[in-house]
Amino acid sequence: MSNPSLLILAGDGIGPEVMDEVKRIIDWYGDKRGLKFDVSEDLVGGSAYDKHGTPLHDDTMAKAQEVDAVLLGAVGGPKYDNLDFSVKPERGLLRLRKEMDLFSNLRPAQCFDALADFSSLKRDVVAGLDIVIVRELTSGIYFGEPRGIINEGNERVGINTQRYTESEIARVARSAFELARRRDNRVCSMEKANVMESGVLWREVVQEIHDAEYPDVELTHMYADAGAMQLCRWPKQFDVIVTDNLFGDMLSDMAAMLTGSLGMLPSASLGLPMDNGRPKAMYEPVHGSAPDIAGQGKANPIACILSLAMALRYSFDQGDEATRIENAIEKVLADGLRTADLLGEEGVTPVSTTEMGDAILAALDASL
Ligand code: NAD
Repeated sequence: MSNPSLLILAGDGIGPEVMDEVKRIIDWYGDKRGLKFDVSEDLVGGSAYDKHGTPLHDDTMAKAQEVDAVLLGAVGGPKYDNLDFSVKPERGLLRLRKEMDLFSNLRPAQCFDALADFSSLKRDVVAGLDIVIVRELTSGIYFGEPRGIINEGNERVGINTQRYTESEIARVARSAFELARRRDNRVCSMEKANVMESGVLWREVVQEIHDAEYPDVELTHMYADAGAMQLCRWPKQFDVIVTDNLFGDMLSDMAAMLTGSLGMLPSASLGLPMDNGRPKAMYEPVHGSAPDIAGQGKANPIACILSLAMALRYSFDQGDEATRIENAIEKVLADGLRTADLLGEEGVTPVSTTEMGDAILAALDASL
């Protein structure tokens, strides 16, 4: 059997800096755990534009379709702000998501104990928090037709359309139920069935998929506005939340911020299973290319390293190894090591991107 394959697209700004630390951890797995990957690397975003005049070359797209998982750093930067919309760095990312049909976006909100005071909420509300928001990523109001700004009488009208087919709802619901089975086996589905027909259909289809295929999973339904309140009031009541593209956009950003810094947040975007049973998958930190700190050794590599942990868990069935990485990070944070984005408490030790990588590798060694 050949090794599982990974395509690394480090991207722009701090992308290559944080990805360097991820590559060291991938090497560690090959050396110390016999878990070897066939790793290839390519360009995306501004760096691809600089070389090829496009933010994602067709050959790179083809490679992404073939590998078991894509690891992406970040794209963008002020140098590219005035490019035509069609070649902006973000278009590379959108093309990957669209052509790989990555319809299920997993955004964990996990609060490491050592960082609980970083949240704007009280420590006991967030300490030990571990929830995942599953956001439908390829349909809904951001894509629905008709859309546009039209003239009606003597004024302009802005139009967007919320549209979901049964099969689009069903596949993201399945993704959430499968995820719940690997966790605490609970799903809360959020929509606005009280005021939107698409929400009524969403609720019906999620319930049907549950009853027919996942009766063992606990399913509840909540209106998305009430869900937002509950996320602030007592987020630990949730395990997996599944919701549409628009509500998911907002709820996942809100949930993410319960836990502190952007530099800590990973994500996964999953599609349908490939022939080998693994889902099409791309893993990336939530943060962008942070041009304000790029090249200064200040970036926090943890979000990108946690994205690798998600790849181990969701693409390679190595949940124990994902937990090993998370425990190593918990230990390093408990020891008081902090990159620049996490400074502010008394008695902590400021470290660079590479020093944070060193410390996580040492904690991984200590875990053997
Ligand atoms: P950003 O996430 O790059 O940065 C926001 C703030 O958080 C900055 O102050 C930055 O220094 C800090 N920050 C982000 N990641 C950090 C990390 N790992 N460690 C320490 N500090 C970190 O968002 P932005 O400034 O709005 O956007 C910058 C560029 O990134 C833009 O070109 C934007 O389009 C692009 N962007 C890309 C993605 C992506 O690749 N997925 C996502 C968001 C923004």
